[in-house]
Amino acid sequence: MHRALERFAPSWRQSRQALFEATAAEYGSDYSFVSLRQRLRAAKDEAIAHQQELVARFKEQATAAGAVVYEARSAEDANRYIYELCRRKGITLIVKSKTMVSEEIELNHYLEERGIKAVETDLGEWVAQLDHERPSHMVMPIIHKTRQQVGEVLSRATGREISRENVAEQVAVIRREHRQAFLTAGMGISGANALIAESGTVMLNTNEGNGRMVTSLPPVHVVLAGYDKLLPTFADAMTQIRLLARSATGQPMTSYTTFITGPDRPGKEVHIVLLDNGRSAMRADPRFKEALRCIRCAACANICPPYQQVGGHAFGYIYSGAIGLVVTPFHHGLEAAAGPQSLCVSCNACETVCPVEIPLPSLILDVRSRVVASEGLPWLKRLIFGVLARPRLFDLLTRLAAVGQWPATRGTPYVRYRYLRPFEGLPGLRPLAQLTRWRSLPAFARRPLRDRIGVRANLAATHQEGRRSDEMTVCYFAGCMTDRLYPEMGEAVIQVLERCGLRVVFPRAQHCCGLPALNSGDRQHGVAMAKQTVRMLERALDESGADYIVCASTSCVVTLIQDYLRLFEDLQLQSWLNRTRSLAGRIMDFTSFLLRVLVAQQRLPTLRRLRPGETAPVVTYHDSCQSCNCLGLRTEARQVIRDVLGLELREMRDSDVCCGFGGSTSIEHPEIAERLLERKLRHAEETGATLLVSDNPGCLMHLRGGVDANGRPLRVLHLAQLVAEYLA
Ligand code: SF4
Ligand code: SF4
Repeated sequence: MHRALERFAPSWRQSRQALFEATAAEYGSDYSFVSLRQRLRAAKDEAIAHQQELVARFKEQATAAGAVVYEARSAEDANRYIYELCRRKGITLIVKSKTMVSEEIELNHYLEERGIKAVETDLGEWVAQLDHERPSHMVMPIIHKTRQQVGEVLSRATGREISRENVAEQVAVIRREHRQAFLTAGMGISGANALIAESGTVMLNTNEGNGRMVTSLPPVHVVLAGYDKLLPTFADAMTQIRLLARSATGQPMTSYTTFITGPDRPGKEVHIVLLDNGRSAMRADPRFKEALRCIRCAACANICPPYQQVGGHAFGYIYSGAIGLVVTPFHHGLEAAAGPQSLCVSCNACETVCPVEIPLPSLILDVRSRVVASEGLPWLKRLIFGVLARPRLFDLLTRLAAVGQWPATRGTPYVRYRYLRPFEGLPGLRPLAQLTRWRSLPAFARRPLRDRIGVRANLAATHQEGRRSDEMTVCYFAGCMTDRLYPEMGEAVIQVLERCGLRVVFPRAQHCCGLPALNSGDRQHGVAMAKQTVRMLERALDESGADYIVCASTSCVVTLIQDYLRLFEDLQLQSWLNRTRSLAGRIMDFTSFLLRVLVAQQRLPTLRRLRPGETAPVVTYHDSCQSCNCLGLRTEARQVIRDVLGLELREMRDSDVCCGFGGSTSIEHPEIAERLLERKLRHAEETGATLLVSDNPGCLMHLRGGVDANGRPLRVLHLAQLVAEYLA
């Protein structure tokens, strides 16, 4: 399954991007992805804000056109309405085209229990129905099945031997099997891609002709749709059309676009069931109401690295992909979302492709913190975050660990499987040993960064030295991973900054920014660490007079300048929000700072020449998720490598796809992390590069560990280390 999804993802990305670019080139920037999504977002926001008026308008228009509109509060309510309709009309056979809402309310099951047969006529949905499965993808329901498996299911269902290889033959069988059902069914049930309020019209976008047969042949047509499908005008629906197929399958348009305004012939009935089922609660929530903008394109599933590994049955409940993790608590309860939400590695890729700009990653984190608030944290995480939130205890324990880790490291920078194997039988050590089979873990540094930097940590002293008018001071926020695990990365950052003539201060009170706790949904400890960090940085700026705060961990930067804002806003901590806002303007990631300040102001010193016998390395670059998806950094590091350092850069495939680190997700779901890591390192090796560079210590830890555990011929460096190596 994951091979099929991995194969689909790159071609989908390519065609999606090419189509949006081609449309913008032909029709102008008003038709670019960014403009279209702004327009659709605005239309959807209007529909959410004025839902009652829109419902009234839609009902009025649809009723005037001869349709019956029923508002169902719950799944049970909607199911009952459809069942009663069947009963009144003596209907025992229904044909359906694909509707995720009917999956949401488990309509087939409800009807089956009452003696009514509902036949799915979408090819994929029918195969899933025959195999008693749910769709694993909102647009391509059986993307998890091979053609051989489809052949097997069809052979079983028809009692005839159907080809396992010939897809055309399989499709022909399905068509034949459905023909009779279309002609004899008493009811057709479809979903809706939009409900257009100004005319009472139902818009349907499909790729198979079955949608039109379902809506036109039977004497009764039931449209099942959530309130979230309402759009004010036809023009808004056109904008949605321009985004939907491009986002969903990378097609310019779906094969069929159908508009239905009331019954199309005398005697025909059209019933439109408007479903709430948790949507009102979503609308009442200032953050989650944004999820009602969703047009169910599944782009957030297509792009999602863990989804590609586990598929939609695991990554979601009924709705899959990122949006599935967000809406499931409202439709099916928090407990249904508890397991799947833990698969998200917070790579933020989904938000970049969502055609209605739903802040999916932060909503998933909100779901996670609700799960934690209701179920509590696992004891190990509680323990770890409890320690992390106490700087002195953390300092003591990491120093003790640096001494006591010898049996697991034998003095090397890694905790390796071969060192741990003899202890695997000891209580509690097996899970740790297993984690190092495919990725060595970093050893704690005997001397953390804070011990290595001398006077820079003395803020008062540096401030009193006085400043030249052209002197620039930066406050360096290292992040706990650099401080305790990779001090050499921190030293490289300081070396580069100082060689550019900057005065660098390192506030000794700096500690973890709280990212691990916040990413795990532990707001209690996360908020404490966020406040501690804001206080510490304010004080450092005040005491040192620094112009900038520079950080060489893009994960920490995103936490400081984006996540804190959302957190304090959400908790309505206005004064902390204001304090964070005024700090955020002074914080820069190392790569941007290097390029936009140091290189732009010509502060970078001359680079050294190659030593005799030294050959310049060939470099490949991994875009960390936080760098590219959250900070929008795509060209900056490449400019540094190519233009500033003059090195050859060879692009790897999918350089901006997650490496699988994802914080604690790589520990909770090692099978996903391992596959993503293996893929990333394979892509890096394919380039023939000898150096793999990135700008985020989390990714570097994961990549280095994978290289070490598998003996791969790659050196893995932080961009700052690479630059430091080339300073004269
Ligand atoms: S943030 Fe990344 S891992 Fe999480 S749902 Fe979005 S794409 Fe998937
Ligand atoms: S959340 Fe966005 S990307 Fe995901 S299905 Fe909805 S509209 Fe598409």
